[in-house]
Order: sequence, then structure tokens, then C-alpha cells
Amino acid sequence: MSECIFCRIVNGEAAASIVAETAGALAFMDINQPVPGHVLVIPKAHIQDIYALDAATGAEVFALTIEVAKAVKAALQADGLNLLQANERAGQQDVFHFHLHVMARYTGDRDRVHLGWHPHLPARAELDALAERIKRQMTNGGVD
Ligand code: 5GP
Ligand code: ZN
Repeated sequence: MSECIFCRIVNGEAAASIVAETAGALAFMDINQPVPGHVLVIPKAHIQDIYALDAATGAEVFALTIEVAKAVKAALQADGLNLLQANERAGQQDVFHFHLHVMARYTGDRDRVHLGWHPHLPARAELDALAERIKRQMTNGGVD
């Protein structure tokens, strides 16, 4: 039996409330519903996080996520919706099988759902320098 709870759900070894599936992706209800309409969308394959995700699988997971998002909004009369995705412990990932959270939002629900970060608006030069470092990594692996 798999160590991974999401793999166990994929394999039918653990119970879950399934919403939808494709050949390579699965959507099911999160056990935690701070507001009604919290769905997880995962690749069926055990892929730990965004860094291990290939583009084709990512596209399949995201295509299913779009369908789930539209259905959550319509079926549950959500006023808004968030997508959330966590990587590594520092990124507050708790289950190490890639997943996208689809979270319905309702007017006045901020006592139950908290999103956000403290504002810090650096000068353009700092933004440019950060962009340059990331861009260099993407174009030539960070080698000057
Ligand atoms: P993370 O913190 O890794 O982004 O999110 C993990 C999510 O998995 C949490 O929202 C948590 O409630 C959910 N979760 C943990 N164990 C189970 C489980 O056994 N079944 C389901 N359906 N969701 C789970
Ligand atoms: Zn897994």
C-alpha cells in the first residue's frame, strides 16, 4: 500500500468524494471545507511538486481544474474562487503529491479563509534585478 494518501485515493485504497477524472487527473473534495466548495485536483501519477511536474501532465491537471472551477461556481453559487498550490514545507505544502486547491469564496467569508501577504513595494531597479536573475535562469540555466 502506498505511503501517499493521494496515491491511495487514486488507487481506491482510501475513501474520497470524487468529483471528476480524466485519464491522468483526478478531482475530489478536500476533507477540510472552511467554506463549501474546496476541491483538490491532482495528477494520478505520484508527482511530488511543481518542480517535478511535466508540462503535458500539468496541462491535463489544469484543464480539469478549469472545468471544476466553473462547476463549483455554478453548482454552489460561489461569489468568487481561488486557486492555490503549495510547494515544499516553506511553501506550506503538507501533502507531498502535487495538488491544486480550488476554493469557492463567498462574500463575507474572510473570517474563515485568509489569503495575503504584507505589502512591500520595491523600487523599479529591484524589480528589474529580480526579473533579470529569473530570466537568466530560464534562458541559460543561470550561467553568464
Ligand atoms: P497542502 O497544505 O499540501 O497544500 O494541502 C493538503 C490538503 O490535503 C489539505 O487541504 C488537507 O485538508 C487535504 N487532505 C489531507 N489529507 C486528506 C485526505 O485524506 N483526504 C482528502 N480528501 N484531503 C486530505
Ligand atoms: Zn502520491
